[in-house]
Amino acid sequence: MTEKMQKIKRIVSVLKGKTALARYKSNPFVVLISTILSQRTKDENTIRAANQLFAEYKTPSELAGAPLKKVQRLIKPSGFYITKARRIKEVSKIIAEKYSGRVPSEIDELLKLPGVGRKTANCVLVYGFGKDAIPVDVHVHRISNRLGLVATKTPEQTEEALRKTIPQKFWLDINELFVKFGRNVCKPVKPKCEECFLTEDCKFKSAQKFP
Ligand code: SF4
Repeated sequence: MTEKMQKIKRIVSVLKGKTALARYKSNPFVVLISTILSQRTKDENTIRAANQLFAEYKTPSELAGAPLKKVQRLIKPSGFYITKARRIKEVSKIIAEKYSGRVPSEIDELLKLPGVGRKTANCVLVYGFGKDAIPVDVHVHRISNRLGLVATKTPEQTEEALRKTIPQKFWLDINELFVKFGRNVCKPVKPKCEECFLTEDCKFKSAQKFP
């Protein structure tokens, strides 16, 4: 086994030992719309907006036919609600009409939806369909670089590098493990290095230089 493979196995094993994995699989449509709502806002705002929205509209056709102003009002807590409401209605209409109300489960089809990038598409695959994929958000990007798993500048580059580096059997858990670690310990600013259990794998710990 290569040194890098040993390192990945160690990191995943340590994080799994420290993380209560939800391993939830949700309705793909809820995952898709919630991930669009989550763009550029905090989790608590996303949850509030999604709860309000799905309390009123549950299916792509219901949401496609919903009054725009009402959707805007329901999702207002998520911010950028004018753009997001338009986007959500567009996506719902396409799913209702082109895909008979079912969210596609292939990444190439998901990426054809307006406003759906690789992170959102991969979230739908992992959390909506339980398929092996690596959604890379700011946490996964930052931590992968700090731990020296990749040396990349953008989340897209990180996803590509991680797919080559990490065995597929670990993909399903990577997002949840890294996001929780990133929120609780390896924060963007002032990471809690004194509490960290991955210091031996961190290439920035000794230099005290945090990208
Ligand atoms: S030592 Fe600090 S920077 Fe490195 S992984 Fe741990 S918390 Fe993050």
